[in-house]
Amino acid sequence: MAKILCILSAIVFVVKTDDVSEFNATIPAVNMTLNSTVNRTIAFKTPVFSLFSTTTTANKPVLGKKNMRKKNADDKRIDQDEDGKHETKNGTADAKKEPDCPPASTPSSPGPPASTPSTPGPPASIPSSPGPPASMMALPDPPCVVTSPDCPPLGLKSLRVDDSQFQASSYLRMGLGPHRARLNIQSGIEDGDMYDGAWCAKYEDQHQWLQVDALRPTLFTGVILQGRNSIWSWDWVETYKVQLSNDSETWKTCMNGTEEAVFVGSRNEPETPYLALFPQPAVARWIRINPQTWYWNGTICLRAEVLGCPLPDPDNVWQHFSEKLSGSKDNLDFRHHNYKEMRKLMKAVNEECPRITRIYTIGKSYTGLKLYVMEISDNPGKHELGEPEFRYVAGMHGNEVVGRELVLNLMQYICREFRRGNPRIVRLVTTTRIHLLPSMNPDGYETAFEKGSELAGWALGRYSYEWVDMNHNFPDLNNIMWDAKENDTDMVKTANHYIPIPEYYTKEDAFVTPETRAVISWMQDIPFVLSANLHGGELVVTYPFDCTRDWAPQENTPTADDSFFRWLATVYASTNLVMANPDRRICHSEDFQQHNNIINGGAWHTVPGSMNDFSYMHTNCFEVTVELSCDKFPHASELPTEWENNKESLLVYMEQVHRGIKGVVRDKMTKKGIADAIVKVEDLDHDIRSAADGDYWRLLNPGEYKVTVWAEGYFPSMRRCNVGTEARPTICDFILIKTPRQRMNEILAKGGRLPQDLQLKLRALRLRKLRASTKAINQRRKHSRKARGTRFARAPRPLTPLA
Ligand SMILES: [Zn+2]
Repeated sequence: MAKILCILSAIVFVVKTDDVSEFNATIPAVNMTLNSTVNRTIAFKTPVFSLFSTTTTANKPVLGKKNMRKKNADDKRIDQDEDGKHETKNGTADAKKEPDCPPASTPSSPGPPASTPSTPGPPASIPSSPGPPASMMALPDPPCVVTSPDCPPLGLKSLRVDDSQFQASSYLRMGLGPHRARLNIQSGIEDGDMYDGAWCAKYEDQHQWLQVDALRPTLFTGVILQGRNSIWSWDWVETYKVQLSNDSETWKTCMNGTEEAVFVGSRNEPETPYLALFPQPAVARWIRINPQTWYWNGTICLRAEVLGCPLPDPDNVWQHFSEKLSGSKDNLDFRHHNYKEMRKLMKAVNEECPRITRIYTIGKSYTGLKLYVMEISDNPGKHELGEPEFRYVAGMHGNEVVGRELVLNLMQYICREFRRGNPRIVRLVTTTRIHLLPSMNPDGYETAFEKGSELAGWALGRYSYEWVDMNHNFPDLNNIMWDAKENDTDMVKTANHYIPIPEYYTKEDAFVTPETRAVISWMQDIPFVLSANLHGGELVVTYPFDCTRDWAPQENTPTADDSFFRWLATVYASTNLVMANPDRRICHSEDFQQHNNIINGGAWHTVPGSMNDFSYMHTNCFEVTVELSCDKFPHASELPTEWENNKESLLVYMEQVHRGIKGVVRDKMTKKGIADAIVKVEDLDHDIRSAADGDYWRLLNPGEYKVTVWAEGYFPSMRRCNVGTEARPTICDFILIKTPRQRMNEILAKGGRLPQDLQLKLRALRLRKLRASTKAINQRRKHSRKARGTRFARAPRPLTPLA
C-alpha cells in the first residue's frame, strides 16, 4: 500500500490572508502510468500544501444561474456572462498585487502565450472573498495524512461523484454537460442526444474549465484525462492547467516551481486515459481542470478522473457515521487479484474448507494460463443423484473485472459461513453442486490489470489474446434451428433443444478460442441446470435469446421459457442494491430502469454466438448475463461496496436452481435411471433431457404442468406436476416401460449397446471432433511456444466494443 507519512506539522488549515504558503513544487510535472496494483512509494519531501486565502475571484459555474453574477459589484475588470465566457478588461497587471498568486505572465511551455491571462478567473488582486469560510477555519490538523500519490480516484468514473458535483464554465449542449465529464463514459450511437461522450465547452478559449466539488477537504494528487467518446467526431484536450479552491470563489493554480504547471492530456486519439500527477499534492475541496490546448481539428472536450485522498471534515458530524455504513462487514479479500493472486486465494479457500471445496481446471488460455474452477459441494468431485449443478462464469471479457472479484469473494464467503453453520449457506452447499469459474479470459485480464483500474480505458483486455470476443465465439445454433423450423426439414435432427454443433465449427482451422473450446467441453461434461455469465459496464440483466432473427440489429427475441427467464433476471435485478435503487442515474446512455433493469438480449443489441444462447440451445442449462456495474474496472476501494451491492443477488440467484420440477426417470423393470430421456412440458417448445443417472431438472414458474417423458425404446409416460410458489422443486419421478420391440432388440443384441438416436450420436461425434482439433491445436501451440519463447504477436485491434 501507499507509503504513509505523518506530516502533522505540514498541514495548516487555518490560514490568515497574509500567511499563505507558496504553492510551490520541487518536483516537475510528470505523466506516468498509474498501476493501481503496483505500490509506489514516492514520498514528497516538501510539505503538503493545504490552504490559500484570498487569491483569485472565481468565475461562477454556469449551472447555477443565481451564481452567474459576481458577488462583488466592485469587480470592474472581469465579468462572466451567462455562458461562462470571460472578458478581461485591464486585468493583466493585477497579479502583482496578489502575493499568493504567481505571476500569470510566465506560462510554462506548451502553455498559452504570455499575454493570455493564465488563470481562468479574474485577477488575483480583487479581495472578493474575506478568506476561507468558517467551516474551513474550524478544521483541526489531521493526525495523519497520506502523502503518496496513490490516492484513490474520487469516483467520477464509478459514479460515486454525483452529477450535482460537476460544474463548468460553459457547455456545448445538455448532452455534453459537465456531468458527462466522467472517465470512460460512453455516448449513445447518435451524437446530439442527452447522453453524449464527454463534457464539451461552448467556447474555444483558454478560460474554459470543468469543476468538481469533492464535498470535503481532499488531498488532490493528480488528474486523468481522456477525450470524447464519439464515432462521429474527434475531440480531446492536449494540455491543461489545474486550479484548486476551498470555497469555490478563490482559486490557486497548481505550480511547477515558479511557473504554473501545464499538464499533458490526450495524445493523438481520444480513448486512452493519461495520468498527470501533481508536482506537489495539495489540500482543497474544489478542483478545476482548465484546458490550454486541444486537438487542432476538434474542440474542448474531455472525460476525467481526479485522484485524491479524503480528509476528515469536522464540520460534518454525520461523516464518520456514514463512512462506517459504507464498505462491507464481511472480512473478505477485497482487492484485485491477478492470475497468481487468484490462484493463491483459491488455494487458501480450499485449505480452509477442504471438505466442501475442490479446485479443477477446464483448459488453458492462449498463453497457457489455466482456467481454474472452484467446486463447492458437500461431496466435491461427484455428481449426486438429484442434486442440481450450478455455475457462475466471470471474466469472459477480461477487462470486466467485478464478476471475477465477486466470484472470488463468494467462494471465501461460502466457505466461512459454512464453517460458522449459517443455515442458509449450509442448505445451499448440501443441496447444490456449485462451480465457480472466476476468469474465463485470463489473458485479457492480465492485459487490463497491468494498466490498472483507471488507465485500462474502456476496451483494453476485453478480447482474447487473438482479439476474439468470446461472447460471439460460440456456435450460432439459433439460426440453424430457425432455418430448420422455417424450412420444416428434418425436425428430428433440428428439435427445440440439444441442437448439435455444426461441423465447420469443429475443424482445426475454425476461429474458436481455446477458452471457448474449454467451456464448451465443460458444459457438456456436467449436467448444469442454471448459470449466470457475469459482465460489466452496464447495470442490467439480459436473458436469451441474445441473437435476433433475420439479423435485425435490435429486436425482442424471446425463448420458449421467456417467463422463467424474466423471473430469473428479475430475481437478480431486484435484489441488487444499485439496480433496485429507483434514484440511480443511468450508466452511459440507456435507461434500463424503465424495464425494471432487465431486458431480452436481442432487444438490447443482437449477439450471434453468445454463451447464453449456446447454453440454452445445446445443453439443459438456463443462463442469463448480468452487467454488474457501470464501471468495468472499478478501483479496489470500490470492491467492498460492489460485494455488498451483489451479495444477496448472487445467493438468491443460485437458490433459483431449486425451482420447477425435478425427478428421476427409471426403467420399470431394472429400476435403473434412464439417461437422455426427453422431458417435455406441454405448451413449452423447449425440452430438456435427463442426465447420466436418469435425474432431470426442469425450471418452471409456479403453475400446473402436463409433463411427458420418453426415451428411445420406451413408451412415453405422462403426468401432471404442480409447481408451488415456495423456493423448492416439486418432485416428479417417471417410470418408463420398454416397448416390446426394444426388448426384442435387446435380446437379439445379446447385451450389445443400445442404439442411440441420431441426434445424440451426432452430438457425441462433434464433441469428439472438437476435442481432437483442440488437442492438435494445443500441441502445435506448445511446440511453437517453446520455439518462440513466451512472446506472442498480437492480431490487429478491432473497433471499440459495447459492454
Ligand atoms: Zn462484457
